[in-house]
Amino acid sequence: MNDDQLTHDFESSSATDILKWTFETFQEDKVALSTSFGAEGCALIHMIVTMGYKPRIFTVDTGRNFQETYDVWDRLVKRYGIEIESYSPDPADLRQLLKGKGPNLFYESVENRSQCCFVRKVKPLKVALAGADAWLSALRRDQSEGRRNIEIVSRSEAHNVTKICPLANWLEENVWTYIRSNDVPYIKLYDQGFTTIGCAPCTRPVRPGEGKRSGRWWWESDDKKECGIHIEDGKVTPRRPAANFQI
Ligand code: SF4
Repeated sequence: MNDDQLTHDFESSSATDILKWTFETFQEDKVALSTSFGAEGCALIHMIVTMGYKPRIFTVDTGRNFQETYDVWDRLVKRYGIEIESYSPDPADLRQLLKGKGPNLFYESVENRSQCCFVRKVKPLKVALAGADAWLSALRRDQSEGRRNIEIVSRSEAHNVTKICPLANWLEENVWTYIRSNDVPYIKLYDQGFTTIGCAPCTRPVRPGEGKRSGRWWWESDDKKECGIHIEDGKVTPRRPAANFQI
């Protein structure tokens, strides 16, 4: 069965059913869950832990996160008794990146910003996924126009893994209902108008009427709202139409 067929079959499946399939299909220690501690990532951690699964869980620590991000990381570890592996940028890459440009280079051009995201996020992600067979991500289709048609199951050639997005069909309200119902830890910045959480210098609260990811890299045009870790062949993982779903 190919990835397209699997995505089609999962369109009306619940997130828990997709996770059951994941752990029936892949060896547990070959499944890696990435999180940047967004609300949906915290929800996914809760779901996996309460289902009794123990995949590797990792984060890419860019070095430019909000303190609130580290606070929720700490709370998740203590609440669930889990290990969250941390992957950081290569120091030599960072020295080269900042050379002659300084620490705030990302405000000066899209090229600078892309280089910073590449060094601080994309390269460490590649290290984190080395050896994994399956990559669990909390991406959702309603997060942005660019993510609208992400696949539930796809092949990531860049990382040589099967990429699985069990929450692809969840809406923002589904995430918050799940978090409130289960008292899942979340980054408190969401209570201050943030709708997405990234690096501190590149994320701000969203104003009324603005898109959900408009708080990211707000000085850039609207079609530049990805850091690169979910981009393959110039788009956010292969696309398919959304459909009905269950939680
Ligand atoms: S979000 Fe900003 S600080 Fe973080 S890696 Fe990208 S450009 Fe650098």
